[in-house]
Amino acid sequence: MIAMSEAPAGQVEQGLRLSTPVTEVDGVGPARARRLASLGIRTLNDLLRHLPMRYQRELAEGSIADLSMEGIASARGTIVNTRVMGGMGRGKGRFQATLKDHSGTLALVWFNADFLRHKLHAGMVIRVTGKVKAFNSYPQMVNPRWEAIETEAQAPTAAAQERLRPVYPATDDLGSPVIEGLVAAVLPSLLPQVVDPLPAELCRSHNMPVLAEAYRMAHRPGHEDEASAARRRLAFNELLLLQMGIAIKRYFNESRLKAPALRWSEAIDGHIRARFPFELTEAQQRVVRDITGDVQRSAPMNRLLQGDVGSGKTVVALYALLMAVANRMQGAIMTPTELLAEQHYLSISRMLEGSNVRLALLTGSLGSQSAGRARTLEGIAEGKTDIVIGTQALLTESVKFADLAVVVIDEQHRFGVLQRAAFRQGNATGTSGGDAAIASPHYLVMTATPIPRTLSLTVFGDLDVSTIDKLPPGRTPITTRLVGPEKTDDVYRYLAQRLGRGEQAYVVVPTIDAAGHESATQLKSVHEHVALLADKYCRGFKVEAIHGRLKAQTRESVMEKFRAGKVHVLVATTVIEVGVDVPNATLMVIEHAERFGLAQLHQLRGRIGRGTHGRKSVCVLVAEPTTDEATQRLQAIAGTNDGFKIAEVDLQIRGMGDFFGTRQHGLPPLRVAQLPEDLDLLKLARRDAEAVVRADPGMIDPSHTLLKRILVQQYGKTLGLIDVG
Ligand code: ADP
Ligand code: MG
Repeated sequence: MIAMSEAPAGQVEQGLRLSTPVTEVDGVGPARARRLASLGIRTLNDLLRHLPMRYQRELAEGSIADLSMEGIASARGTIVNTRVMGGMGRGKGRFQATLKDHSGTLALVWFNADFLRHKLHAGMVIRVTGKVKAFNSYPQMVNPRWEAIETEAQAPTAAAQERLRPVYPATDDLGSPVIEGLVAAVLPSLLPQVVDPLPAELCRSHNMPVLAEAYRMAHRPGHEDEASAARRRLAFNELLLLQMGIAIKRYFNESRLKAPALRWSEAIDGHIRARFPFELTEAQQRVVRDITGDVQRSAPMNRLLQGDVGSGKTVVALYALLMAVANRMQGAIMTPTELLAEQHYLSISRMLEGSNVRLALLTGSLGSQSAGRARTLEGIAEGKTDIVIGTQALLTESVKFADLAVVVIDEQHRFGVLQRAAFRQGNATGTSGGDAAIASPHYLVMTATPIPRTLSLTVFGDLDVSTIDKLPPGRTPITTRLVGPEKTDDVYRYLAQRLGRGEQAYVVVPTIDAAGHESATQLKSVHEHVALLADKYCRGFKVEAIHGRLKAQTRESVMEKFRAGKVHVLVATTVIEVGVDVPNATLMVIEHAERFGLAQLHQLRGRIGRGTHGRKSVCVLVAEPTTDEATQRLQAIAGTNDGFKIAEVDLQIRGMGDFFGTRQHGLPPLRVAQLPEDLDLLKLARRDAEAVVRADPGMIDPSHTLLKRILVQQYGKTLGLIDVG
């Protein structure tokens, strides 16, 4: 077995620190330093954390006749002949040799290596190491490593023993063996400097190696068990830090933040429900119970509501907002698009018609200087507005609430995760020094993209989760058809037929106008399609465009006409992806469907199939997929209406990093831990983190000092841990 001190003698530098630049190591000049930097390696600490992606077994030296075809083998013998094939003088020739020992012969081939004719000669004794293949039923090694040895009888050196060789992420001009050599040279100096942030007790109880030992085992494992123990420990490290960050934040929310405890009574409940034009479904009732339970406490609610497109999240949100109003405080709902804010404003206005609840709409389109905007801001600041509906404009500095009690964030997946924190309060119940409570509203975060378990434990780990798992009654499932562009004519004739029956339709295209847009692919555009439909297929019907570049007023009036049935076809970009709710619209055509993401297609499709009128809703995807991934996406969307299944497929196709915008969540990436594979470790880490925080929330115990420092370093900003102190 290889001991960790086995680094080649003479190369171990004295005085190497974790912070030392790699350029101080023997053999690292400017060129190599550049290559290392391209792998993210600048200091010895980076090098230490540059972990092997896998290991290759190198077998102990054996006689030629016994060479195994599995793994990397070594043998020694005498060269009996050599030969250069082709490419003489240009360094491109192939060098061949035959190696013989007491048991048999082995063919050796090196490509692009005719220089070897100066180094290897018949009669030399060498040891070779490489993969053995059968060539014309003789064993052969291609491009083996070799070293000259004195005699065939010389004892094998350490390198000739069976071992696991690390295979590092490398580049074309910086191979894994070079990295292996560098690591081997510095590891003995570095390991004693590695301090373990985890209390030793914790490592012991999980049967995990301490950190320095884990690094040793990762870089120079004695056997497979060591390699996997190292991986487990290093993955646990990352997950524990993440979970600690989340646990501290959660603790902080619960102990230091103070939200108004809202009063709830049967009478209030009755008043609120009287506003809804329908009975809540069982699933909605359950979520309302979760929410009323939360908001009656003075710890801020932090709840994620997930429910598929059309599952009826809006009324549940309205319930929460009206709880604030019933307590003479304010509520706000934030949406990712202006159109959705406008939609909510209209539908909530309708439900609250005749009540004395005062609503305001606040979006970026209300010019920042306009008198209307100033009045709106004043109403919000003076508590004359009860419910504010808006976009991210709600987060701008000029928006100050008199006494905000409930915040709803709709379609959370369209925002970054951290926007929740940024609402401004005028009514702080204390200053933020010492132990005084910090005022916070209750938060309800909503999404139609179900969150896989791993994400709800990580990125969204500080949220409680409620799910609406059933659609409201009377829905007819949407039929989704997948057709090629050659069917366009049929599709629009069908669309016209349905308009003739008094139904309405959406046509979704990827761009507003084709001009100047990726001319090569000729994308269909809103303007082009309005003209095409109005002039050719839908004569006698009214076709209008809707997209993000229209003025808010125009957009509102187009939507109003569509809702009233005065406009029959809406040609749109993806602005209608969220929130638009017109039950009489039963047909949707999506052009260039291959260009849209899976969740996006599902959201778009969710605009139809909304009425209780019992008419069949159809979504036609016009697509010409050119990649496997696009084909998979389209098949998945055509194959199911179940948002949870679609989210799973999406996660499979895209992988963790991309899914759900987790790239923008701001948390440091996991380098070792693999999710969802390491879900068990994640749960273990969560349990430990919660226990540590429960026992020592301020992390003042000396055994937690280092952990705390690392936490603040890595997660301080993104999780707002700085405030935690
Ligand atoms: P989403 O969860 O996608 O935001 P919405 O809140 O927009 O869904 O609701 C979709 C549609 O279902 C709306 O037209 C809404 O009025 C209707 N709806 C919601 N809850 C119910 C219910 N309990 N019974 C009947 N219709 C409902
Ligand atoms: Mg919605």
